[in-house]
Amino acid sequence: MVSGSDEHGTPIEVEAIKRGVPPRQLTNKYHKLIVQLLKVFQIEFDNYTRTESRIHKKFVRDFYLKVEKNGFVYSQKITQLYCLNDKRFLPDRFVEGECPYCHNPNARGDQCDNCGRVLDPKDLLNPRCALDHSTPIQKESEHWFFDLPKLSEPLRKYIETNPNFPENARNFSLGWIRDGLKPRSLTRDNAWGILAPFKGAKGKTIYVWMEAVLGYVSATKEWAEKKKKQPSLWKKYWFDPESRNVHFIGKDNIPFHVVIFPGLLLATRENYDLPWEVSSSEYIQLEGQKFSRSRKIGVWMDEAVELAGPEYWRYALISLRPEQKDTNFTWDEFERKVNTELNDVLGNFVHRTTSFIQTYYKGKVPKYSVNKKQHAKILATLSSSLSKVDDRLGHFRLKEGLEQVVELAREGNRYLNEHEPWRLYKADVHASGEILGVSIQIVASLGILLQPFLPLASKKICLSLTGKANLPWRSAGQAIVKPGTKVRPLQPLFHKVNADKLRAELESIRSRTPIEAEA
Ligand SMILES: [Zn+2]
Ligand SMILES: [Zn+2]
Repeated sequence: MVSGSDEHGTPIEVEAIKRGVPPRQLTNKYHKLIVQLLKVFQIEFDNYTRTESRIHKKFVRDFYLKVEKNGFVYSQKITQLYCLNDKRFLPDRFVEGECPYCHNPNARGDQCDNCGRVLDPKDLLNPRCALDHSTPIQKESEHWFFDLPKLSEPLRKYIETNPNFPENARNFSLGWIRDGLKPRSLTRDNAWGILAPFKGAKGKTIYVWMEAVLGYVSATKEWAEKKKKQPSLWKKYWFDPESRNVHFIGKDNIPFHVVIFPGLLLATRENYDLPWEVSSSEYIQLEGQKFSRSRKIGVWMDEAVELAGPEYWRYALISLRPEQKDTNFTWDEFERKVNTELNDVLGNFVHRTTSFIQTYYKGKVPKYSVNKKQHAKILATLSSSLSKVDDRLGHFRLKEGLEQVVELAREGNRYLNEHEPWRLYKADVHASGEILGVSIQIVASLGILLQPFLPLASKKICLSLTGKANLPWRSAGQAIVKPGTKVRPLQPLFHKVNADKLRAELESIRSRTPIEAEA
């Protein structure tokens, strides 16, 4: 499980020049912040690295020399916008101007924020330098290109014969190939980035989109060298035919992960494993609006964690993961999910069972007989729970996997309501114990099955029942806590939230610490 901070690119360089600091100072700050937030949200990578890493930079340069040697790179002189005052070429966001489509006067060289169209700096009407607002001239510059069209056939075959790709990824990519692939620009006249290794490309850097994507490989390499001290271990993940690499992306990244990245790997002629699955989610919106950094539409991670604990967000965002269609996050829906599912179903079942055992059985797990007819249905549900969750996770349907876990707790609640151990207890302490002995096994399995979704809650349950923070995944669905085991009291795992209060609280956080638009 690897990823990293994408540190290069024009937006960072422009922002650094405007603030009068080196770009690396900006990316150091944000990389550190991202790493902290990943930790707070319990998102654990085997290696979360950065594209400024020495290993990545060397890997990229060596990689492109191979691709060039194999005949997939060529150079060409093109005209570019150039600022006479700053004495520099103006790629991407170094230019601003009027959008040729919607006439927004403040479109950027790479994109118009108003109409969302992707632009080339030369498309802009009345272009101006983003740094000093002067009018640029046109000047010739030599650039390098990746000859993607040469790989159309092998790419088409690869996509057509890969059975795993979701429909959105397959259809989009095949359509793209059918319309004719275009060469991809490989270099920029930027100072901030990885120096292009090609002969005659002095002072040019590799276009950020064409190097960051190689970070999956270099991050594996770095993991093998630094964490495992086995420098060739990375090859097992990228060259072993039995190895399967899975990419988790949003659908706007499909062209890069399904066409361009595999194209680059093919161009090395080194038999790399191509992506086995690209789990590309659809979009999520916020109260019906598109997330936007520049328009400050979003809930920033550091704000989110002040509003509710990380597990509330993990729960809500996995439940709303746009796996097959676009979804919409609303505060009312957040409240509903937390209150009626996380709290009332999951938290409540765990709490009812464990507190009843504490109060009436002095914390000792009561005996139950496996063969009693009254348990048959619930025990069958319990023993099939692992394979149900496994199956959904195996198809990268995290949302449905989590639904299966909640369903198990819901069945547990039904079982308690049906047998009413609190009523039985007065008449027959053994009969009531039978029900609770079974219920606590469900709680233990919930503790295991929640591990990938809600690691903190999982840990609390497992510790309380067994004294161990982690139980083996494969033991879910079995009888885990033996009768007579003394279990530790467990505080309620969750509490309810209120949408209106959360909205007000967010306003108040923002008035204290406004969002940095470019961050
Ligand atoms: Zn300028
Ligand atoms: Zn526009």
